[in-house]
Amino acid sequence: MRSHIKLGRIAGIEIGLHYSWFIIAFLIAFSLAAHFQQVRHDWSTAEIWGAAIITSILFFVALLLHELAHSIVAKSRGLSVRAITLFALGGVSQIETEAPDAKSEFWIAIVGPLTSFVIGVILIAIARALGWTLANDAVNPVGAVLGWLGYINLLLAVFNMIPGFPLDGGRVLRSIIWWINKKPVKSTKIAAQIGQVVAVLFIVYGLFRFFVGANFGGLWLALIGWFLLDAARSSYLQVGILAGLRGYRVRDLMESNCAAVDGYLSVRDFVDHYLLHSGSRCFVVMQDHHVAGIVTPGDTKRVSREEWEQTSVQSIMRPLSQMRTVPPDMPAVKALELMARENLNQLAVMSEGELQGIFSRGQILRFLQIHSGIGEDSRDLAA
Ligand SMILES: [Zn+2]
Repeated sequence: MRSHIKLGRIAGIEIGLHYSWFIIAFLIAFSLAAHFQQVRHDWSTAEIWGAAIITSILFFVALLLHELAHSIVAKSRGLSVRAITLFALGGVSQIETEAPDAKSEFWIAIVGPLTSFVIGVILIAIARALGWTLANDAVNPVGAVLGWLGYINLLLAVFNMIPGFPLDGGRVLRSIIWWINKKPVKSTKIAAQIGQVVAVLFIVYGLFRFFVGANFGGLWLALIGWFLLDAARSSYLQVGILAGLRGYRVRDLMESNCAAVDGYLSVRDFVDHYLLHSGSRCFVVMQDHHVAGIVTPGDTKRVSREEWEQTSVQSIMRPLSQMRTVPPDMPAVKALELMARENLNQLAVMSEGELQGIFSRGQILRFLQIHSGIGEDSRDLAA
């Protein structure tokens, strides 16, 4: 997940917001304001909205503390943490490397919900001292803010402990399976499968509640289930991909038989004579006998068909100078991580100033389909 708004750094970790975070902030502010309006007619509009808005801002601080707890434990165990992104359903810590052992994974995962739980208990204790209870929650604005914040933090701790990988609870489960069977890849797959089962239960129960009781809370449960299902599925896939690529280098997967195309050629001629007739999937663009860039089938779509005649290939190519380059002996997994991090579809493979080939997402998929190592755990033994 990429953050849209960068807020700064804490302990070298970039803190950012995803746009979807505003949805949850507005939901909390509006529903609390509506609730206070109903139960406290004597509060001024400023008090009602002040309490609601301060609660959602402090909710953000609490989420951040939850994620910082993950990140600080990860750092103390020697992992590098790049960024924290807060989004609608919580936060994500972008921990660059995988935990080296089951114990580290366990502590990195569980410290987040623990932090939320402790914050929740402390805030509710203070709020209760100020007269707050769940049934009579609007005794005074300060008590209301602290009480609701505490309540939300407890919910956050419970939600995150749902054993649906990649939620914290799923990671804790994974670390326990890993500790028992000593197989990191296999344990992620089991945790992701359990995560999918939990997600489907959420959806079924949520829809059942919705249709039987016409209860909108049920729709929320179904929505959370759908989110969990998607996350569990993609982490299952990711593990398969990482396992399939382990041990391979960029040179093993890259496309090196790229057809050469003259830069002055029109896009029309390129499509008619090269794209449709050569079996090649990668094309290098030549200028004065040098490779100037690459052009992909997707690049032709950036120009409307009517302009194909007048547009040269070199004006739609990706110049080599602007492409991210990698050496041929880089591990394929590292190159894939780089593409994911920088949102790239292809990398130029260079050695001693010469283009050796193109490493692309499409290439990786074809490679995994041919070497159907996907889904096998034989490599666990080598790990
Ligand atoms: Zn967490």
